[in-house]
Amino acid sequence: MQVHTVGDGTPEVAVVGAVHGDEPCGARAIQRFLETEPDVDRPAKLIVANERALERGVRYVDTDLNRCLPGDPESDQYEERLAAELMTEVQDCLALGIHSTVSYDRPFANVAYLNERKRDAVAHLPVDAVVDFTVVADGRSVELPGFVDIEAGHQGSAAAADNAYDCLVAFLRATDVLPGEPPAPDPDFYEVTDPVYKEPGRAYRFLGENFERVPAGEPFATVDGDDLTADEEFCPVLMSSDGHDVLLGYRSTHRGRLSTLPVPGDDAESMADGATDD
Ligand SMILES: [Zn+2]
Repeated sequence: MQVHTVGDGTPEVAVVGAVHGDEPCGARAIQRFLETEPDVDRPAKLIVANERALERGVRYVDTDLNRCLPGDPESDQYEERLAAELMTEVQDCLALGIHSTVSYDRPFANVAYLNERKRDAVAHLPVDAVVDFTVVADGRSVELPGFVDIEAGHQGSAAAADNAYDCLVAFLRATDVLPGEPPAPDPDFYEVTDPVYKEPGRAYRFLGENFERVPAGEPFATVDGDDLTADEEFCPVLMSSDGHDVLLGYRSTHRGRLSTLPVPGDDAESMADGATDD
């Protein structure tokens, strides 16, 4: 694992790339950022997590790093040990993990167990969607109390590396590491309700568009040529025909704009503040 520090002192902000080795955009964004020799107001850590998998161009070597947090320093599996190391590096940090996907070209943010820190971080990223993965967060970085992720775009593309860089800079502005105002796009918020698994040995084709509503009764995929129909209305997230061996993707519910969501701890505050807008 590569850990680069910019600025003086103990960092409380981190950016993590290459959690998955076949998603090089985060490592590229970090390299590009370091090459600018940035002048920072606060220290930050830039971490290239899974170097072995990155070198080989594979998602992982022994097991999925983003399914095995907090890991185990004594494990015989490389990623289990790496997960424990990563936990130590990010434990006191607000962190941004950078991923990419085959299912969607534009950047979006992923969270779980949303709290104020996480909401403030994702509210200032150049994304138009934030997805809550709480129901399937086990072992993933987004489960941690100070960790948010982005999907930066299509895996391996130059656009994903550019989007990753833009999100990195926005995140470092939002956390006062870099001077300048981050964007405040007020993205749409989607809550994942359940995964849609594939049955082994069958051919799937996703018919819809991610984040576009599938009404009840409409087909959204085919299985060996037969329609797979929505029982209830949902919005697909990370759905793709071939992105994953056992998973077609996730069903989600659109909950409105991020700024309209109640977040734990907000009630007492908004009562004390009255209805004023800041
Ligand atoms: Zn990933």
